[in-house]
Amino acid sequence: MARERLYLFDTTLRDGAQTNGVDFTLADKLAIAGMLDELGVDYVEAGYPGANPIDTSFFSERRPMRARVTAFGMTRRPGRSVSNDPGLVALLDAQADAICFVAKSWDYHVRIALETTEEENLASIRDSVRAAKAKGREVLLDCEHFFDGYKANPSYALACAKTAYDEGARWVVLCDTNGGTLPHEVEDIVGEVCKVIPGDRVGIHAHNDTEQAVANSFAAIRAGARQIQGTLNGLGERCGNANLVSIIPTLKLKAEYADKFEINVSDGALGRIVRISHGLDELLNRAPDRHAPYVGESAFATKAGIHASAIVKEPKTYEHIAPERVGNRRKLLVSDQAGRSNVLAELERIGLSLDKDDPRVTRLLDEVKEREAIGYAYEAADASFELLARRMLGQVPHYFDVEKFDVNVEQRNNAKGERVTVSQAVVKIKVGNEELISVAEGIGPVNALDLALRKDLGKYQSFITGLTLTDYRVRILNGGTQAVTRVLIESTDESGEHWRTIGVSANIIDASFQALMDSIVYKLMKSGAPA
Ligand SMILES: [Zn+2]
Repeated sequence: MARERLYLFDTTLRDGAQTNGVDFTLADKLAIAGMLDELGVDYVEAGYPGANPIDTSFFSERRPMRARVTAFGMTRRPGRSVSNDPGLVALLDAQADAICFVAKSWDYHVRIALETTEEENLASIRDSVRAAKAKGREVLLDCEHFFDGYKANPSYALACAKTAYDEGARWVVLCDTNGGTLPHEVEDIVGEVCKVIPGDRVGIHAHNDTEQAVANSFAAIRAGARQIQGTLNGLGERCGNANLVSIIPTLKLKAEYADKFEINVSDGALGRIVRISHGLDELLNRAPDRHAPYVGESAFATKAGIHASAIVKEPKTYEHIAPERVGNRRKLLVSDQAGRSNVLAELERIGLSLDKDDPRVTRLLDEVKEREAIGYAYEAADASFELLARRMLGQVPHYFDVEKFDVNVEQRNNAKGERVTVSQAVVKIKVGNEELISVAEGIGPVNALDLALRKDLGKYQSFITGLTLTDYRVRILNGGTQAVTRVLIESTDESGEHWRTIGVSANIIDASFQALMDSIVYKLMKSGAPA
């Protein structure tokens, strides 16, 4: 049976840009548009031309893409003509394939917020769609507050949608603007709309205020809608928009949808979705959500020993999909709760196959347990675990020694007479017979130490140039002055691989030093640096 085409509309660059703490530069927008195009979404809504300089300059020239570049803006203002509305004129002039208008569809908002009549609002929709069509653009209408509006006055909400459809809009998009509608309501209301407007002209735009934006999107599809609007990683105002990173794998991998619908995302692109999702986090300088469905670090992680032994025998027992399909991987956590099978499976993952009765496995397990008792947590530090295992097998080359380091923190007046706190680190390293001394200033003692450590590794320097720290977390393990500090560091490099290392000590600088050293040694090892 031929599958029906379902369209994906991404609004990361418009609605996602409303996220608290997110500010896209033009370069960010272009980079994200590239990721979206690689993924295979059908529409990239890139912003609101005329509303701010960045969006205006995005639309000042053609941005060649597979996806249809879409400009967003309001329908003509009440009481004005199309040509007399500067906002609408800017929108019509934008270099875009499609225009997505937003219009009120709740009679209450029309009267109170727009201060106009219901008839004038319909005329504004009609005129705007007509003007954009005349410009040769594909047209979408976002019906703002559609679901609340429908509950209050179904015939008026429908009239707004129908007006755009009758005027030739390609899509009429039903927006749950406040995000409070529940899936069964979405399914009922979209079902009613699809009796009047064909489903292949209807879209859904769901917000996540009851954490059901994804569920609401699927409810709309079940009721007949054929376009889903959403954002990467669920970015968006307040609690966010429907998360396309969760929606896409479900559409491609769950028979309920995969058998009925076709989307423009290839299997290959699906296999890169983890990288795309984490790439966006990186651009936003955020740590990826470990527990994100499909793409999170923990999405296929298992801790308990009995589960781990079952997973090794038959992965399907505890996994709803094969993690490789989305570019993720199975992870068996090594922890003091777990047993030999976890350690064995983790060793296998890093390419070390040892017999389960090998005495070295017992030694490694004992070592892990001993260290976890004093605060190490290897389930959160895959690279440190790998180093621990490989060191025990004599597989980690001896690259360099840190003969000594010295970190100081000084508070003083600077040349302008301002009170400043500065940190400086001096590190003395021995690489073979070469002694190297590096000095660096940092925004704090750990930053200074990190910069000094990585400043000059002699013949190994070229292997670590791509190394960057992406996350640094400190946790105090037991209260009081005798507390132990656990430091977890996440690093990445030019290949995009992420790894985590750990250090534990009563002294925060010492704990950080251990984690930094593990990260550098891991990088040297994975880059194949010669001993
Ligand atoms: Zn929205």
